[in-house]
Amino acid sequence: MDEISMYKGKSELDEKTIQTLINTITINDIMSMYFTKTPSIFQNYFPNFIWKIPTEEKVVYLTFDDGPTPEVTPWVLEQLAKYQAKATFFVIGEQILKAPSLFQQVIDEGHSVGNHSYSHPNGWAMDSITYFHNIRHCARLVNSSLFRPPYGRLMPKQAQFLQRHYRIIMWDVLSGDFDPTIPKERCLSNVTKNVKPGSIVVFHDNEKAKSNLEYTLPKVLAYFADKGYQFQALNDQMLDGRKVDRKIA
Ligand SMILES: [Zn+2]
Repeated sequence: MDEISMYKGKSELDEKTIQTLINTITINDIMSMYFTKTPSIFQNYFPNFIWKIPTEEKVVYLTFDDGPTPEVTPWVLEQLAKYQAKATFFVIGEQILKAPSLFQQVIDEGHSVGNHSYSHPNGWAMDSITYFHNIRHCARLVNSSLFRPPYGRLMPKQAQFLQRHYRIIMWDVLSGDFDPTIPKERCLSNVTKNVKPGSIVVFHDNEKAKSNLEYTLPKVLAYFADKGYQFQALNDQMLDGRKVDRKIA
């Protein structure tokens, strides 16, 4: 746990919490808790992942995971269109096969898409070869260099391999829309209180998050538009010139 102790005193976590982390649990344990604002300790621990976009400009990157979902995604697209907002959709292969025209609509409306695996496996609970096959299966349907691991979970070996082929997009702000135990108002304030220029925000266009999302998304769009923010999609051009080879052997 020496890697963690390096960040002692440098993160947003207080001294006592850091000490507890160092003494008791592993980095994977820490990642399995969820934070609405990703502590810099994780961002430093996985420096090759993309947690936010460095910029002073008022730009925010909204992302939607787990679609396309016929009951939710068309509504999301309508909300985004009202503000000429562009976003990034981390799609699941199985969902694309259920709603291919909706997937095409997301692309046609100028949004970015990223690989979120074929069937949403947990990287910690699956052997790496099977896991890579799952991602490759999705890559046949999604032409993108962006990948977001389901549940944000990757074992170091998986991460090492995948980042040779993909840009691994994480986040710095989690709305918590997937959590039915939090009030909708909290979901909204998780976003409004934590977004900074260049933030990457996670929402879910799936059925589980629908109720929180329907409350939160229109208010988030109105709130940040009013503050002069632009909503942009993540893409290769803005993610620096690093070349990635998308073919997984
Ligand atoms: Zn997911």
